[in-house]
Amino acid sequence: MPEVRPRVRFAPSPTGELHLGNARTALLNWLFARRYGGDFILRIEDTDRTRTSPAFEKKQLEDLKWLSLDWDEGPEKDGPVGPYHQMERLDIYNFYLKKLMTGGNVYPCYCTVEELEAERIGLLSRKMTPRYTGKCRYLTEEEKRKREMDGKKPAFRFQVGEGLMEFGDLIRGKMRFNCADIGDFIIVRSNGVPAYNFAVVIDDHLMRITHVIRGEDHLTNTAMQLILYKALGFTPPFFAHHSLILGKDHTKLSKRHGPVSVREFRNRGILPEAMLNYLFLIGSSTGKGSEVCSLPEIIRDFSLAKTGKGGAIFDEDKLKWLNGVYIRQYELQKLTERLAPFIERAGYDYSAIEGERLYQIVEAVRGNLVTLSEIGDYLNMFFDERYHLSEEAALLLRENDALVVLDALSEVLKREIGGNAYHDVVAAVSEKTGFGGKKLFMPIRAAITGRLSGPELEKVFAILGKASILKRVESAEEQHSGCKVER
Ligand code: GLU
Repeated sequence: MPEVRPRVRFAPSPTGELHLGNARTALLNWLFARRYGGDFILRIEDTDRTRTSPAFEKKQLEDLKWLSLDWDEGPEKDGPVGPYHQMERLDIYNFYLKKLMTGGNVYPCYCTVEELEAERIGLLSRKMTPRYTGKCRYLTEEEKRKREMDGKKPAFRFQVGEGLMEFGDLIRGKMRFNCADIGDFIIVRSNGVPAYNFAVVIDDHLMRITHVIRGEDHLTNTAMQLILYKALGFTPPFFAHHSLILGKDHTKLSKRHGPVSVREFRNRGILPEAMLNYLFLIGSSTGKGSEVCSLPEIIRDFSLAKTGKGGAIFDEDKLKWLNGVYIRQYELQKLTERLAPFIERAGYDYSAIEGERLYQIVEAVRGNLVTLSEIGDYLNMFFDERYHLSEEAALLLRENDALVVLDALSEVLKREIGGNAYHDVVAAVSEKTGFGGKKLFMPIRAAITGRLSGPELEKVFAILGKASILKRVESAEEQHSGCKVER
């Protein structure tokens, strides 16, 4: 239980789609806020002018909402400590740059990218840690003036100094850094835009963030940020660095491993609840027997201590398994709505399918779906104009015993039987042929659904009705009667 009412933040850079790793960071922050009655703030870190795009920001916000990670302050919401886009806060950063400059810890650096790169390569070739050598630190006023006269615009670097930097990480325990390893770092670039480490410290302070929960890839940044907290006279927040999501080869999950963004999984038919549940499970010890946890359970069971110290290996099969569980449990109407884009994508006019019939179809096939996109594989059997026999089904129906079943089935269907009396029909066919089990059911399934596996026959029977079934059986008989072998 935190000592103060938490204010946490998720601070994405809109330079791409929402990565699973970032979605997990967002989730952990959101859970922390919701578990302990605090605020979850969304801040857009849009200072990378070449890679940032409003389209990515829009998509990221949509995906957070899709995951039901709602924010208390931020874009579209506003709040008392905004603006929540870093590019709208340049005056604020400028104010603090001036403040630091008067303290004497900041100096202008005129080094070009090429010079810095050459320096870096030189250090690496001598097996030394690549860090800024401090070349511009000792420029005289005269030398600075000369560079300015040459039209050079300086970046501003913070002079780090010596000593050890320590902090207690809420997940990883005591952390320690040697400042000498860090090197003077840029806080404001030559185009006047602040560097991440500078902007983030000012924002986290002014936005009264109490806990910074983020990936362990930011540990070195935390060291630099602590140096700035000290220089600015700000009290640092608590830090918690969780492990990263890794691919099966134990390297950081990236495009090399396959789909990595929330959007990609969303488009493939993963349900938001399954995604959220999976992101909670990965790298966490829930201490609970079951892995399927509802959102209230996740909030109740969440604790930073149980979260994210060990490596979190991404297992797509597990995510899909969870998705199948959610599909089976989902409220029918809601599931049907979620399926709508996938039904359209499969070439059906969703709004033209009669509602009650669609619910029946979804109810019949949901047990076979692992992802929502698979609905496309099952729909054709319910529409006469799209129904077709798969190769395996056609092959099976060529067998003599199968044709015996089809003959009996069409005969029984032609009799007067009440609407959807599936059991009566099957019993009559069984009696007529003397067949049971697979020998009886596989040909029926093949002829009616056009495939050898799929939804429960009884449900399909009820949805299709006698006339459509008879038509299918007769056409299957017709197609294969030429192949019939005398018994
Ligand atoms: N914009 C940073 C990122 O996306 C935020 C890191 C942080 O949480 O401080 O990695």
